[in-house]
Amino acid sequence: GILGGTFDPVHFGHLRLAEDAYEALNLTKVILLPVGHPAHRKNPVVDAESRLKMVQLATGSNPYFIVDDSEIYQPQKNNTDIFHHNNKVFLPTREIVKHTNYTIDSIKLLGHRIKEKYSKHFCSLVWIIGADAFLNLDTWHDWKELFNYCHFAVAMRPNYDLALTKMSTELGQQWCHRLTHLQDFKTGKIKETSGKIIPFTMTQLDISATNIRERLKNNLSIRYLTPESVYIYINNNGLYK
Ligand code: ATP
Repeated sequence: GILGGTFDPVHFGHLRLAEDAYEALNLTKVILLPVGHPAHRKNPVVDAESRLKMVQLATGSNPYFIVDDSEIYQPQKNNTDIFHHNNKVFLPTREIVKHTNYTIDSIKLLGHRIKEKYSKHFCSLVWIIGADAFLNLDTWHDWKELFNYCHFAVAMRPNYDLALTKMSTELGQQWCHRLTHLQDFKTGKIKETSGKIIPFTMTQLDISATNIRERLKNNLSIRYLTPESVYIYINNNGLYK
């Protein structure tokens, strides 16, 4: 499973979404993928490195969560080789990604890397997404092509109604054509490795990063909306003031 987001900052809504998806869909791992420069929404308030750090702090103790920083760092040009010298391994130096990230590029890259690692095993990718983000899917770059690379697991989110009437005609068509029952996915009835839309229910938490940022701006407490480690990091670095 892959959970992409701005994580500006990460909160319990994101973490419960990842955890519930892991459990409901019987996933092997969940990759949290903080975006550097999103294409389909405003630029995040806090820099990519701090957002990445907060996701790492929030997920560190979970053995089946992986944080992937490939939308934030890339190998420096002309320096992509790993080399060995004096019994030491030198990894390619990396630089901050400055261009806009497109999910279609990331999913192709991740799919390629995962296949290389687990080449002998069947592997399908599931993009985990909240209802609000799914309703805007048709604004994403090459959005229909995404169905060639992953399934979509769509979680209900408080205040967002996943009704057909809330979807554009094109998104609604995809929804009707691809809708798949969670049970059929879980029990292995689905043989396709991509292209299905699987709604699932998650623990309902009415928490948003927007609300956390507003609370911080107004000197209100954000404790217990995000893990203690993230709360401390925000305080220590005076973020979102
Ligand atoms: P913002 O308020 O800045 O728009 P956000 O809290 O919605 O941010 P994002 O990083 O934009 O967080 O979201 C990443 C993914 O997590 C999206 O798919 C979004 O739908 C989902 N998500 C965020 N918060 C929740 C929540 N409380 N419950 C379920 N899904 C959530």
